[in-house]
Amino acid sequence: MLILGKEVSKTTRLEIAEKVKEFEAKYNRVPCLSVIIVGEDPASQTYVRNKVLGCEEVGMKSLKYEFPDGTNQEDIANVIRTLVADKNVDGILVQLPLPKGYDEKYLLDLIPETKDVDGFCANNIGLLALGTPRTISCTPFGVMKLLASTGVDLKGKHAVVVGRSNTVGKPMAMLLLNANCTVTVCHSKTTNLEEICKSADILVVAIGKPKFLKANMVKEGAIVIDVGINRVDGKLCGDVDFDEVEKKASFITPVPGGVGPMTISMLLYNTLMAAQDRENG
Ligand code: NDP
Repeated sequence: MLILGKEVSKTTRLEIAEKVKEFEAKYNRVPCLSVIIVGEDPASQTYVRNKVLGCEEVGMKSLKYEFPDGTNQEDIANVIRTLVADKNVDGILVQLPLPKGYDEKYLLDLIPETKDVDGFCANNIGLLALGTPRTISCTPFGVMKLLASTGVDLKGKHAVVVGRSNTVGKPMAMLLLNANCTVTVCHSKTTNLEEICKSADILVVAIGKPKFLKANMVKEGAIVIDVGINRVDGKLCGDVDFDEVEKKASFITPVPGGVGPMTISMLLYNTLMAAQDRENG
C-alpha cells in the first residue's frame, strides 16, 4: 500500500495554518522563518523555493537571503548574527549543502537551539539522543509522521536505517529507538547489508543512490520508507527500486510525493513551535 506523503502533508499543513491564525490573533504577528542560501545549486534553489511557498501556504512570513558562491563567509555569518538578534525572526535555516570552501559547522553553530528549526544543532541532536527532544530534524520527523499514518504499532519492531548522516540517518535511528523499535544502522562499510535489510520490519533508506534497494533485500510485508531524492535523466527517483519493492512491501513511500513534502511540513511545524516557545518565554 502506498504511503501518500502528499496527503499526510496536506492535512498537517491545514492544521499548522489553523494554529498560525490562532497565533496571529493572540500575538498580533505571524511566525517568521529566515532562509539562507549560498550559490546556485538548482536542487537547493528548488528546496528553498518550496520552503518559501510552504510558509505562504500556512500564512507564515519568510525572509530569503541569497548569496552568490564566493561571498565572504564572515558576511554570511554577520547576517546570521543579525537574524539571531532579531526579535521578529523565529527560525533560521541555512540551506545545505553549502558550496565547497564554507565551514558548515561554523555557520550552523551560530544558530541558537531556540531558532534552529532544522534541528541540526548539537544541543537539539543531544536532546533527541537523550530521549527528550526539543526540535527534531525535519526529514526524520516527517518519516515518523508517515509511519504513524500507517497505524502500525512500532513497538518491538526491527527497524533498519540505511545511511548515517547527521541530518537524516542518525536522528532517524534515534527517533525509532525512542519509539521502542530495535534499531540497526547501516552505512557504506556495512558488510552484510542484504542480510540485515532482509531482517527489517521497517526499512528506511537514505543514501543518495538511485534505485539501490532491490526486492531481494526486503522481507515480505516490510514497511519501506524511501528518503532518497535522485535525478536520473531529468526524472526524480528514490534510493529504492520502487517497481520491484512495491510488490513485497506492506507499505511504501513513492518518490516524488512521499517523504519530500513531509520534510517541509515539519519545518513549518518547527517554526510555529519555535515562535510559540519564544512568546511563552
Ligand atoms: P549523505 O551523503 O550525507 O549520507 C549518505 C549515507 O549513506 C552515508 O552514511 C553513507 O555511508 C551511506 N551510504 C552511501 N552509500 C551506501 C551504500 N552503498 N550502502 C550503504 N550505505 C551507503 O546523504 P543524506 O543523508 O543527506 O541524504 C541521503 C538521501 O536522502 C539523498 O538522496 C538526499 O537527496 C535525500 N534527502 C531527502 C530529503 C527529503 O526531504 N526527502 C531530505 C534530505 C535528504 P558512510 O557514512 O559510510 O559514508
